[in-house]
Amino acid sequence: RAAVPLWLTREFPMSFATPASRKEPLPVLGRDVRVPLVTGGEVAYAALDYAASAPALQRVWDDVAAYAPYYGSVHRGAGYLSQLSTELFENARATIGGFLGCRPDDEVVFTRSTTDSLNLLARAVPDDCRVFVFETEHHAALLPWRRVTYLDAPRTPQEAVRTLERALARRAPGPALVCVTGASNVTGELWPVRELAAAAHAHGARIVLDAAQLAPHHPVDVAALDVDWVAFSGHKLYAPFGSGVLAGRGDWLATARPYLAGGGASRRVVRRADGHVAVEWHGGPARHEAGSPNVIGAHAIASACKALTEAGFASLVARERHLVEKVRAGLAAVPGVRVLSLFGADAPRVGVLSFVVDGWNSSHVAAALSAEYGIGVRDGLFCAHPLVRAVLGGAPDEPGECGAPEAEPGERALNAVRVSFGAGT
Ligand code: PLP
Repeated sequence: RAAVPLWLTREFPMSFATPASRKEPLPVLGRDVRVPLVTGGEVAYAALDYAASAPALQRVWDDVAAYAPYYGSVHRGAGYLSQLSTELFENARATIGGFLGCRPDDEVVFTRSTTDSLNLLARAVPDDCRVFVFETEHHAALLPWRRVTYLDAPRTPQEAVRTLERALARRAPGPALVCVTGASNVTGELWPVRELAAAAHAHGARIVLDAAQLAPHHPVDVAALDVDWVAFSGHKLYAPFGSGVLAGRGDWLATARPYLAGGGASRRVVRRADGHVAVEWHGGPARHEAGSPNVIGAHAIASACKALTEAGFASLVARERHLVEKVRAGLAAVPGVRVLSLFGADAPRVGVLSFVVDGWNSSHVAAALSAEYGIGVRDGLFCAHPLVRAVLGGAPDEPGECGAPEAEPGERALNAVRVSFGAGT
């Protein structure tokens, strides 16, 4: 008998009711999915994994559906729908630039995700640029760079600034870039972005903000923070998968080799007499957006940005803070639970919190939360292996690099459980 893929053995959709109209500033889809429990019966699914991907807003799906009949290829089409789509695509760029508080000269480049955005920037930095990154970053911010100096995990925001200043002061002459997260995807803690930007600039370096976790929970103002670039992902900001943004200074991007070579990025291509092909590349965002772009993704991000701007962050932040405190208080009552933190238990954080339970493998804790309570969380090392190891005190060469290393009951856990909140939780 042919093996049946696991997902086919499950009922899908399990049971789904159209969301009742709720008095919520930012309604999301997916609140009314009911899932089966191992103990029998079913329960409304509690999605507490927003840090991985947030459910898209009802408003975003509505805006995408409203655009569907007018769907067309952008930039090169003469037809009415192509023109309309081009306008929509470019308006999305402007909306997102406004949402991020970009300066008039900043470029907004559409990418696939934060990972894609940071890899694009890594390709665009000058060849002799030295990049400074704390070891505590998400792998997307840790790994793309060529000439990189890794900085030790700081234990306070002030120590982060001092560590960066020392490293920048000691560096060899030449261009430098600092890459830093706005909010940790593991601890949820806020990083001192403005102070790090000031330190970077005082030492003649530039700075890129990884706002993958910050942007969904907190207003990001590129000009006020004085960061040179910001990167984020649509799927964490209540838009669907597949689109992201790199926004900021255009100079390095304008002279860099295009991230993707192809149509759309090239202004003029000529086969020369010697047989070679000469290319004149576009400047601006088009230089790095070769191929047919993800127009729906751009439209969806812009729609999410508008919804967040209209609703404001205040009630979202207050609700997330309340939930984090509630979970913290609940966990404090359980013997052997430790909440992960770099900057201390009371450090300000977004709606993201990770913990370990002494003597328990975190994958088992997460599996039990799902199977017995219908609560969807995440377990593992969260693509931030050095950070989790720094916080939990794991040996740097610990086996089980990817995902959740197996620990026997009674052994110290080297993975953690993460709970994260957002609109609709
Ligand atoms: N940076 C941080 C802080 C993240 O939390 C994530 C994703 O979890 C990323 C970067 C990468 O985002 P994406 O997977 O959308 O590229």
